[in-house]
Amino acid sequence: MSSTLLSRRDLRFLLHDWLDVTRLTERHRYAEHSRETFDAVLELAERVAVERFAPHNRAADLAEPTFDGRRVHTIAQVKEALDVFAETGLLGAGMDASVGGMQLPHVVRAACFAWLQAANAGTSAYPLLTLGNANLLLAHGSPEQIDTWVRPMVQGRFFGTMCLSEPQAGSSLADITTRAEPQDDGTYRLHGTKMWISGGDHELSENIVHLVLARIPGGPPGVKGISLFIVPKVLLGDDGALGARNDVVLVGLNHKMGYRGTTNTLLNFGEGVHRPGGRPGAVGYLVGEPHQGLAQMFHMMNEARVGVGAGAAALGYTGYLKSLAYARQRPQGRPLADKDPATPQVPIVAHPDVRRMLLAQKSYVEGALALVLYCGRLLDEEKTAPEAAERDRARLLLDVLTPIAKSWPSQWCLAANDLAIQVHGGSGYTRDYDVEQHWRDNRLNPIHEGTHGIQALDLLGRKVTMRDGAGLALLVETVRATTTRAWQAGGEAAELAAPLGAALDRVALVTRRLWSTGDPEVALANASVYLEAVGHVVIAWMWLEQLLVVEAAGGPGDGPDADLYAGKRQAARYFFRHELPRTGPQFDLLDSLDRTTLEMRDDWF
Ligand SMILES: Cc1cc2nc3c(=O)[nH]c(=O)nc-3n(C[C@H](O)[C@H](O)[C@H](O)COP(=O)(O)OP(=O)(O)OC[C@H]3O[C@@H](n4cnc5c(N)ncnc54)[C@H](O)[C@@H]3O)c2cc1C
Repeated sequence: MSSTLLSRRDLRFLLHDWLDVTRLTERHRYAEHSRETFDAVLELAERVAVERFAPHNRAADLAEPTFDGRRVHTIAQVKEALDVFAETGLLGAGMDASVGGMQLPHVVRAACFAWLQAANAGTSAYPLLTLGNANLLLAHGSPEQIDTWVRPMVQGRFFGTMCLSEPQAGSSLADITTRAEPQDDGTYRLHGTKMWISGGDHELSENIVHLVLARIPGGPPGVKGISLFIVPKVLLGDDGALGARNDVVLVGLNHKMGYRGTTNTLLNFGEGVHRPGGRPGAVGYLVGEPHQGLAQMFHMMNEARVGVGAGAAALGYTGYLKSLAYARQRPQGRPLADKDPATPQVPIVAHPDVRRMLLAQKSYVEGALALVLYCGRLLDEEKTAPEAAERDRARLLLDVLTPIAKSWPSQWCLAANDLAIQVHGGSGYTRDYDVEQHWRDNRLNPIHEGTHGIQALDLLGRKVTMRDGAGLALLVETVRATTTRAWQAGGEAAELAAPLGAALDRVALVTRRLWSTGDPEVALANASVYLEAVGHVVIAWMWLEQLLVVEAAGGPGDGPDADLYAGKRQAARYFFRHELPRTGPQFDLLDSLDRTTLEMRDDWF
């Protein structure tokens, strides 16, 4: 039976027919792998998702974690699922064999995680955070820190967090105030409050490794004076055994709209509740050099942000499949041309408006999944391409695409979840069906890891202008290569190449125009509109790429993949006819250097 989490055959299409991931096994890093090992680990991820993560998705939502003043309580199935997940070794799927990982390509790892994200966003957040934490330490930690903290995380014994936000410093990390006092023994003592920390306290693992941004007194102000520290919940003895409690305390849990299975915490560091070594202050270990904390964090941000996009795509995808299944079995009404009440009702999937809602979802979620997997493939290129120039190219393209890969799925796969509710009619508005939870879970994604507005500023203010516009030029050149292939392929692909080429011209022109005044306020006032328009152009590109795979296979035909291919072609048509044209008025608005939002005064609201 086909799954309602993700589509196995779509993943096969994207990973093998399009991204040709097996070719990565020609690289030294992945030489131990083969198509068979990739498929086996994907199957394993699907099984764990279906058997262990999906069954308690609703239960964990209904019984959110509680704090009794001493301990955090979560339903038992969360820990059971995470223990199974750790036993499978999937946590270290993308990590080096030297730290106990499977050393799989990032793109394959991302596809594996998508199964878990679709099955249970709340429970899968714990390993995802742990993975982000461990990857950061692998990139910037000392060999000793890697041994002490990363290995137990790969084994699933310790979980990790990312402690950036503070009550007064969310989007503006320049304003964080947590301080880290250097000690004679080379350690630091941290004092401060961190807000919104996911997985910040629980009893699901033996220990929690907090990665904390803090200031060393006397350092430069703003983002240049922020350093990164490892602050464990439980300190370790010289032999590595769990020892005394560190001075990190849970003040309280946040009660969220979605992602309720994941604890979300307000943490105090150095309050004096626990007194390691007889003194207040949370013991912390500096990672890398002082004042490099934000740069180190940002190093991993690409991966984390694409991971948010992948989570949004996965939630959109499962909502789409569930609404499709519902539409196929819910009888209601008759065909437009047949109103005879004596005839049986048809399933709602027969109504063009319901098909519109399903096609819109399909075009959003499959387009988004394609983009995040494409980014995963770029990460593999960045890490393993044989030539330095190829690695640079991949890094630059990934840099430009990252705010889009984070924000587009967060906006449009949430819109897909909204449509999934609509397809369910009144039932979609009840808690008897999963789709309302998917929407609530997905609503987080435009907020965390840099809000939508912050991603827009990043794209227009930094990414398309950096290195004299080299990033934008590379994006345009890469999309052009696809439109050129489409022209050469002829037929429908060539027809779609024309509007995509025209939209791409507008991206280049509008970007120049926005920056032509030399006034950043005018340029950036409508950055969110820019992000949305460029995002739609990028997803249209993803659809043309997929259509080219279908055409290269000789079109839908009548083989075993006929329906898959015909569905891809129809979704590509939908995106080009119904969605890409939305960008026209957006580009017009941007081109006019509109000042409406800039000129609106506070007292006029
Ligand atoms: C469920 C959940 C889990 C989270 N997990 C973590 C975690 O594990 N670790 C962690 O460190 N943080 C975490 N966060 C925090 C999250 O990253 C922040 O909520 C986010 O960065 C926004 O910060 P804020 O909430 O203070 O909002 P604000 O920064 O106050 O933003 C409010 C609004 O103003 C806009 N805005 C702010 N500044 C600007 C600007 N300069 N230009 C234009 N618009 C602007 C924003 O886009 C937003 O719409 C989590 C948050 C939530 C809700």
